[in-house]
Amino acid sequence: MRRLLRTIGLLLLSISTGVFSPAQTRSASPPPGPSEDDLALKSFAAMHPIDAHVHVFKTDPAFQSMLERLNLKLLNILVMDDTLPYRKGLRPQIEDARTLEHSSRGHVALCTTFDPYKFDSPTFAAGVITQIDQDFDEGAVAVKIWKNIGMEIKDRNGKFIMADDPKFDPLYKDIAARGKTLLSHQAEPDVAWGPPDPSDPSWSYYQENPQWYVGNMPGFPSKQTILDARDHVLANNPKLRMVGVHLGSMERDLDNIAKHLDKYPNFAIDTAARMEYLMMLPPEKARAFLIKYQDRIIYGTDLDFLASASVSDILKDWQSTYRRDWRFLATSDTFIADGRQIHGLNLPQPVLQKILRSNAIHWIPGL
Ligand SMILES: [Zn+2]
Repeated sequence: MRRLLRTIGLLLLSISTGVFSPAQTRSASPPPGPSEDDLALKSFAAMHPIDAHVHVFKTDPAFQSMLERLNLKLLNILVMDDTLPYRKGLRPQIEDARTLEHSSRGHVALCTTFDPYKFDSPTFAAGVITQIDQDFDEGAVAVKIWKNIGMEIKDRNGKFIMADDPKFDPLYKDIAARGKTLLSHQAEPDVAWGPPDPSDPSWSYYQENPQWYVGNMPGFPSKQTILDARDHVLANNPKLRMVGVHLGSMERDLDNIAKHLDKYPNFAIDTAARMEYLMMLPPEKARAFLIKYQDRIIYGTDLDFLASASVSDILKDWQSTYRRDWRFLATSDTFIADGRQIHGLNLPQPVLQKILRSNAIHWIPGL
């Protein structure tokens, strides 16, 4: 959704500045034939890719046929967010997700979540364990803990709840004992704590979702405090597999990600909604990192399909993201996407195969 809005914005900008006039487009366009775009999607599909981070709220035949055409498997992630009406209730989300999963012919798996707003209830942990165990029994392969832990929900003393709160321990033990995976989205990109920065790839998100921008909130927990709590969970639960989504919220610091991957063997990361940060790096640095940690990086996009969305827009948006990511990871092309010049990393096939598919299966068994 963020990307779509940005694309529309750029399109409007190019129309208004005349950069994109129809005459120019016509004279510059190549003769018809199999376009680079089609080839990119074909090559992507040949990997039998897994997008291990999406949010899909409905079923649709055209969407299903895209999944089949791309040989694509999705991990559909639930979160409970009391700032958005369609994410407030847990039951309806689980039921919709299950309907989607069952109609997907094996193309969609479920990462469930729990209701963190019940944190102060004396039966919180027991209730969560009953619910996630039932979701596991019905096929869920992972559990999501979201950024409202650390950034929104407070205990009865008015203190922000952190991921290492002892009340969560029984959940972590249960997830590990069941052989499932915890997906952790703690904290936000650096820019959420910083001064406004329109050049940051995540900045437009805070314009659309100002409730998560904390740069103007004195006394708010620091990003470091929130990530330290996440790290305690890793240290205290060595048998728990954790995927730190969004590059583990360390999107501008590859050295810090590397330090975490070296220190915690139970930790992997996904690329969801943060590929742009890798694209902004010197290509040789991004390439060396992805090759060195080729067993610990899982492909994800954070693409969504809201109930209100137009299917044709969604198909365009999703496919253009997969094309862009394929060209970045797999080719040596230089191209423009989202207004930025991108240099393809030309990663070796075995590394692509791990990042786009087998790491997800290894780190999230059952996918
Ligand atoms: Zn997400």
